[in-house]
Amino acid sequence: MRRIPNTEYISKITGEGTGIWCTQFTVEEILKTSIEELYAMAEEENGRIIPPEKSAKAQRNFVEFVCDMYEIKHTVSNGIDYLLNKIEEATGSIKLFSKSTLGNEFIKPPRKCVVELIERNIQRGHSSHEENNVVAFELINGGWSDRDISFVFKSIYNEPAGDWGWYSDDLNTAGRHIGTIRAKAINRYSVDKLIQLGICKGDKCSCT
Ligand SMILES: [Zn+2]
Repeated sequence: MRRIPNTEYISKITGEGTGIWCTQFTVEEILKTSIEELYAMAEEENGRIIPPEKSAKAQRNFVEFVCDMYEIKHTVSNGIDYLLNKIEEATGSIKLFSKSTLGNEFIKPPRKCVVELIERNIQRGHSSHEENNVVAFELINGGWSDRDISFVFKSIYNEPAGDWGWYSDDLNTAGRHIGTIRAKAINRYSVDKLIQLGICKGDKCSCT
């Protein structure tokens, strides 16, 4: 259960404060301090607030951990938002923002055949310009972050970003194509177009 920091614990039996305060500790304190000392610190209201440390890697590990718990399949090509959606489907417990970055359009989760295209291209370490467009439009329409999209393209090419514009060496920044596509709010490829490109198998695909 979460508590508001720097509030006193209330005894369920007496309904009165226990003298122990909900106290924030740094990771270092938790690692280096005994439980008795931590308790002693919690017996005084110290009012301190420790800003959270944001780690994309820790987030990724935690989300994958939860996926494993619920037997949700995941690969490196699955973005965090996609996996959170899957977790929500499996548990019904997480409420996510449901608007995409394309104004009022609702997020469209990436289609199976496009996800498979991503996985194939990661395997073979290559992707054509048109396939890159398919992937970029799909993920942008799926509400994926710059970071997650960059990660996918970096996973495909597995080399310095160079001048290609699909990702950048700073994974928090998207390649310039991604910014352009976002700005133009381009819709993802139609199923017909995906079939024409040989990416979608039509009737055999769950996206139709
Ligand atoms: Zn399909």
